[in-house]
Amino acid sequence: MRKKLFRAATLFICHLLLLSLFSCGEDVKNTKTVFAMDTVMTLTAYGKDTSAALDTAAKTIRELDKKLSYSGKESEVYKLNSSGGKPVKADDDLLTPLKVSLDVSEKSGGALDVTVFPVVKAWGFISKEYTVPTDNKLASLLKNVDWSSVKISEDSVSVPENAEIDLGAVAKGYASERAAETLISKGVKSAVISLGGNVRTVGTKPDGSKWNVAVVDPTEPGTKTVGTLKLGETSVVTSGGYQRYFEKNGKRYHHIIDPKTGRPAESGLISVTVVCDDGTYADALSTALFVLGLDKAMEYYREYGGFEAVFITDDKKITVTDGLVSAFTVSDDSGFEYAK
Ligand code: ADP
Ligand code: MG
Repeated sequence: MRKKLFRAATLFICHLLLLSLFSCGEDVKNTKTVFAMDTVMTLTAYGKDTSAALDTAAKTIRELDKKLSYSGKESEVYKLNSSGGKPVKADDDLLTPLKVSLDVSEKSGGALDVTVFPVVKAWGFISKEYTVPTDNKLASLLKNVDWSSVKISEDSVSVPENAEIDLGAVAKGYASERAAETLISKGVKSAVISLGGNVRTVGTKPDGSKWNVAVVDPTEPGTKTVGTLKLGETSVVTSGGYQRYFEKNGKRYHHIIDPKTGRPAESGLISVTVVCDDGTYADALSTALFVLGLDKAMEYYREYGGFEAVFITDDKKITVTDGLVSAFTVSDDSGFEYAK
């Protein structure tokens, strides 16, 4: 009898506990992990019954991974690259990231260039068999690198026969934007979509306060941060030489190529974090500004605007654009300080 009573009491307490966990519906946290676009992606939503929305968002990302990857039979990019120069019908999932890329290419004087793909391959960043290409090899590949050779019409795209494109510099940004749209359309009011170095927030934290997004220390990315950004609904994308690289004869070669030289960009920047309401632009810009270097990146900012940024240079100095000054806090003992 006593045992039964005890069991009933325990059950009751357990139910109470469960109720207290779920009754404050808005605060229930739900997380889904997806591996796509060569990175681990985490989708976190707060609120009641968010799991179906998260599943749909994950499906959106997986579909985009197939469409925007450079290979595979479902890849729109592959179709375009193997079309022999002829126009190929394209939907918004190809047109939008491509248009954003070309816009940033034009404004940055070609610092971002989707046609740099054969050069990226020559360094082994696709096969993961890393090599330093010869000057001759780079010179011959660079002859066909020209973003302005990609032609877009209302519903089709063409790429010259001797060129190849890759959307690696913008695909995650576009995917984060589409995943956010999916969550919002399913009624999610509070979420964080984290795709590698791309973060897209939806709404605010469940208690109405801003999100904290860390800016990783590019010299010790696994363990330290340079600072934190306090932000509402937006996109935060970081490009850095530390994200993918190999070393040969004591020299480090990273995956962001300067289309002018065909070599990993050596602009003095070691990371660029862009905050922009449009995730596709944020991704395109972070890559382009990394190639441009601090001075030209600031010129771009002053001329075109539409985004904010945190720049980190190889002398451990931080430059924050005006719109982020109050949102950014440097981490204690980070070893980084503001540039003069
Ligand atoms: P990550 O993919 O690490 O988030 P980025 O968004 O900066 O980093 O994109 C880098 C990827 O884009 C490279 O892996 C390569 O495939 C491609 N890429 C490298 N340099 C350029 C460039 N100058 N313009 C366009 N794409 C580039
Ligand atoms: Mg990018």
